[in-house]
Amino acid sequence: MRPDSAIAIVGELRRHGHEAYLVGGCVRDMVMGIEPADYDIATSALPEQITKIFPRTESIGAQFGVVLVIYKGRAFEVATFRSDEAYVDGRRPTGVVFTDAKQDVLRRDFTINGLLYDPFEERVIDYVNGQADIQAKLVRAIGDPRARFEEDKLRILRAVRFGARLGYTIEPATWEAVRAMAPKIHQVSSERIREELSRILTEGQAARGIEMLEESGLRKEILPELQLTDHLERCLEMLRPGIEPDFGMAVLLHYTPIAQTQSIVERLKFSRAEMHHIVALLENLPKFHQVRQMSTSSFKRFFRLVRFDDHLELARIHAAAAGEDVEDYNYVLRKRQEWTDEDIAPKPLISGEDLIAIGFMPGPVFKEILTRVEDQQLEGRLTDSAGALDFVRRHYGKS
Ligand code: ATP
Ligand code: MG
Repeated sequence: MRPDSAIAIVGELRRHGHEAYLVGGCVRDMVMGIEPADYDIATSALPEQITKIFPRTESIGAQFGVVLVIYKGRAFEVATFRSDEAYVDGRRPTGVVFTDAKQDVLRRDFTINGLLYDPFEERVIDYVNGQADIQAKLVRAIGDPRARFEEDKLRILRAVRFGARLGYTIEPATWEAVRAMAPKIHQVSSERIREELSRILTEGQAARGIEMLEESGLRKEILPELQLTDHLERCLEMLRPGIEPDFGMAVLLHYTPIAQTQSIVERLKFSRAEMHHIVALLENLPKFHQVRQMSTSSFKRFFRLVRFDDHLELARIHAAAAGEDVEDYNYVLRKRQEWTDEDIAPKPLISGEDLIAIGFMPGPVFKEILTRVEDQQLEGRLTDSAGALDFVRRHYGKS
């Protein structure tokens, strides 16, 4: 995303006499020569001043000094310079104090995330040697790593996420704190853990991320059930950035027993829909080894699985990582191309009402009859309603 709107917001804040900069991940990305996905703005303006300046705002965390400014249809986080007050429980600050730009940087997690950018002077403001750490490819906590992780244990996981995704090394003292404090990760809510784990799986370099979780002792804490094998690592290496978190989880857990997988995804508070998808992916994976014996109707039903592409991709990854030939996978792909969506899920030839009309009493047998008729239809043996009713009369012997 281009920075124009973010720069316009900075300009507008300054026009009203406030200090304002781009901050955090977007500056890191710009220094790295990557186009940022979004832009955050830090300012001396207080939340109530921000909401007065911009016509469209939403208050997302006004008590923490964060206002969402909607500008040209996009949302930007505009946050008042602040320092966080004591983190009593290691999860959330109890309150914030509004301060200056430097203090705002010092409360941030890593030096690479602690840069400010002045878009008018085109100058990076660096209070923490973040630019040097970007050059050296290092994730380094701002200040004393143990103290900073003690304040917010999520930072332990964030260190791994940035290290893996960017291909950076975690600076020795920071790494030492990650390892020492991994057992305390449970003080962080399941939702926040899930969010970081999802990002580790979906932002690229997932294999490295999971390996770092292992080496740091974090894997043992958050996924004690998981057995890491060479094959699984090769599977993770094939995950592309931008995949959905539930697909990433399915690959990660694809030979963890289903019951355990369910308890893991429940514990991490994935949604019901995500849980169903993950379980469906695991349950259906073995079917790829039986595709050559599958009847046309079973095949078509197989293709009706929600997000079938994910099933296909898991099978491909699983086979390719095992060094197996991907012939079964290619066979399924060819089959899928033989049929249109209409072939796979055609309009039913008859309904329960048709059965009643020819004298059947509604009951559990309806489902059986309709499924059998549909099988015949999918096999191409029944093609119209009259034929279907005829079939029912012959097999279920009524009027
Ligand atoms: P990404 O490109 O992955 O979004 P990001 O750097 O923008 O990376 P965010 O999680 O979006 O990361 O957070 C924005 C900024 O807020 C970070 O760059 C960092 O300065 C600060 N930050 C976020 N979470 C924390 C935290 N738990 N502790 C301290 N600072 C944090
Ligand atoms: Mg961000």
